[in-house]
Amino acid sequence: MTINIKEISEKDRSSVLHPFTQLKDFATGKLGEPTIIETGKGIRIQDAHGNQLIDGFAGMYCVNVGYGRTEVAEAISRQAYRLAYYHCYAAHTTDELAILSDRLVRMSPGKMSKVFYGMSGSDANETQAKLVWYYNNLRGKPSKKRIIARERGYHGCSVVSGSMTGMSFYHDYMDLPLPQIVRTGVPHHYWGANPEETEREFSARRAVELDQLIERLGPDNVGAFIAEPVLGTGGITPPPEGYWGAIQAVLKKHDVLLIVDEVVTGFGRTGSMFGSQHYGLEPDLITVAKGLTSGYFPLSAAIIGQKVYEILEDGTDRVGAFSHGYTYSGHPIGAATANAVLDIVEKENLVSNAREVGAYFQMKLKEKFAELPIVGEVRGVGLMGAIEFVANRGNKKRFDPSLKVGARVSKAARDRGLIARPMPHGDILGFAPPLVTTKAEIDDIVSITESAVRSVLDELIRAGEKI
Ligand code: PLP
Repeated sequence: MTINIKEISEKDRSSVLHPFTQLKDFATGKLGEPTIIETGKGIRIQDAHGNQLIDGFAGMYCVNVGYGRTEVAEAISRQAYRLAYYHCYAAHTTDELAILSDRLVRMSPGKMSKVFYGMSGSDANETQAKLVWYYNNLRGKPSKKRIIARERGYHGCSVVSGSMTGMSFYHDYMDLPLPQIVRTGVPHHYWGANPEETEREFSARRAVELDQLIERLGPDNVGAFIAEPVLGTGGITPPPEGYWGAIQAVLKKHDVLLIVDEVVTGFGRTGSMFGSQHYGLEPDLITVAKGLTSGYFPLSAAIIGQKVYEILEDGTDRVGAFSHGYTYSGHPIGAATANAVLDIVEKENLVSNAREVGAYFQMKLKEKFAELPIVGEVRGVGLMGAIEFVANRGNKKRFDPSLKVGARVSKAARDRGLIARPMPHGDILGFAPPLVTTKAEIDDIVSITESAVRSVLDELIRAGEKI
């Protein structure tokens, strides 16, 4: 199909409100023309001008099985012909939904019991908050409602999930966060540790701070703690050594539920099926989305642990039906998509691929970038990685934000055919390529990045920056 690029661009500019976009710059053309993405195959996408790009971020870290998978397209088509829609209210179901749910309960970490479906990571985290509140009401603890989330955590953009997100630019001018959400510190050793503090000591300090926060709020007022196993949008930051063990001990002590947001880490990205397994987490509630369908259809899930579910089941006997759900909860096409995607993840051993190719990727990133004069830290796990740029490695001085170093490196990579994301918190270049990526493709990603970083380094030196 040939498209009329000019017509599509004009229609887009005049009618689409794009997320996370400088509206005036887009409206006036300062941002240039919209990028029209037309096709995708493997780890590459192609725009309407025929330019190919390596997608080093798998869309929004979701296209884990890669683009253009005919098996998934056929599963979607088959289900659309058979039954495009039916709801799952009041005990209705479809074969694909029942099969998927059984599969998720069995493969998930911890003692999981039931799966509730939504369409996005944001709405699934919204559901988790309601479940925490409902659970504590039903078990006679009506004040146990505050939810602790971390600085730089990302949990979505809706009202509750946006409040859980711990970056102020997601709240400003939007009347967020809600007062039920309370913040605790980010486990980033590079920026947060005191001089000479080891990772273990730093983790222990974060756990003491959490303990003190819960004591201050009153354990009877704290219902849950929500976190990603590896901070994603907040800078692709794996936890420091000992962090999860120390944090979970505090949560157990105060009877605070652990909501593990596996929207990015679920289904293989860390090199384990779930981030929880990678770091020894025992979740009470798990949020998944993205990799569940590899982005081929919008589907998310709140996976509910046995401990919480038992109270819910018991409670409906007293208070009536569980009154929460969406028209598209458990959408049959979403379920068919997820089953087809999980078949690929299993058959092609994508979790082991993420572990093996991921280890190679982490090694290459460290080898090529860790010693550069403008690189403060190279970090990551499995097939998620980040390079953080600083003006001075010795005293960890950040670049002046107006230099937009992270965004410039990302732009330079894009000009060379690679999408690597400038992460919103600092001068950070983020990577999360599809889980089908090969070592040879990692070499391409790394060499393009190297050229991009060097070009920006040269520009900075020419502009008189002291590096
Ligand atoms: N949770 C995490 C960890 C995420 O990274 C995201 C999105 O990037 C979300 C939740 C929100 O998902 P969605 O954008 O589908 O609402």
